[in-house]
Amino acid sequence: MKTYIVGNWKLNFTVGEASIYLHKLMKALPNYRDIEVVVAPSTIALQPLSLQVDRHKIRLAAQNAFYRDFGAFTGETSFLQLSGVVNYALVGHSEQRYIFGEDDKMIAKKTAAAVRNRIQPILCIGETESERAFNETADVIRDQLLGGLSEISDDDLDKVLIAYEPVWAISSTKVAKLATPDEVAEVVKLIRKTLTEAYGKKAAENVPVLFGGSVNPSNAGGYLTVPGVNGLLVGGSSLILSEFVDIIEVAKRVQS
Ligand code: PEP
Repeated sequence: MKTYIVGNWKLNFTVGEASIYLHKLMKALPNYRDIEVVVAPSTIALQPLSLQVDRHKIRLAAQNAFYRDFGAFTGETSFLQLSGVVNYALVGHSEQRYIFGEDDKMIAKKTAAAVRNRIQPILCIGETESERAFNETADVIRDQLLGGLSEISDDDLDKVLIAYEPVWAISSTKVAKLATPDEVAEVVKLIRKTLTEAYGKKAAENVPVLFGGSVNPSNAGGYLTVPGVNGLLVGGSSLILSEFVDIIEVAKRVQS
């Protein structure tokens, strides 16, 4: 399986800044066939960047989209509108869940809408600090995973990626702490077990599972060697070009 390195730019960069960053990133990267480098700019930058990007080197992801294709949904952009523009979309990112109130029902509709429009959803799941403190991690992970996949047919599971992002480890949260590779391993094992029980061993093995939470060039190698982890979702560190390139190079070294 490829290793996925996904940069989530969140609400950062103007369209011009995003274009300059992409230009520099394309220059800095060789064509790594076994590493899928993905960046997720703001929605407004996606269309111009889609004309600029060399898809042999980098793929684009949306940070979010709405599940209905058209209609009276002021302010939204649909997966249909993004099809052909992006290859991937984050779905259920914790900032959407906890700042904008997305629930598993809505996230399930978005996961299905992405697949329907030939966009691979990266379903983000993860427990909060208090859920972990109250030993609810396993229940939360199972609910968010099966809830987010509930409108996906078994045949479409191979189009989905999962990102495990403990909310308490995301750099923008006040309490951000680094997750240890052992803590990540335990939850990734649970994700794979849950997928195996729901979809069978073979289907479960083929789902890429990424880790995200304050990943940087110095801790990337530790997370990438956790059994069952196939890549990284990187927020803050992906905004600094040299750090993002270093993380991709770490991924290359871990692979070989
Ligand atoms: C993210 O936004 O998905 C993320 C993991 O952020 P950070 O790397 O900054 O913790």
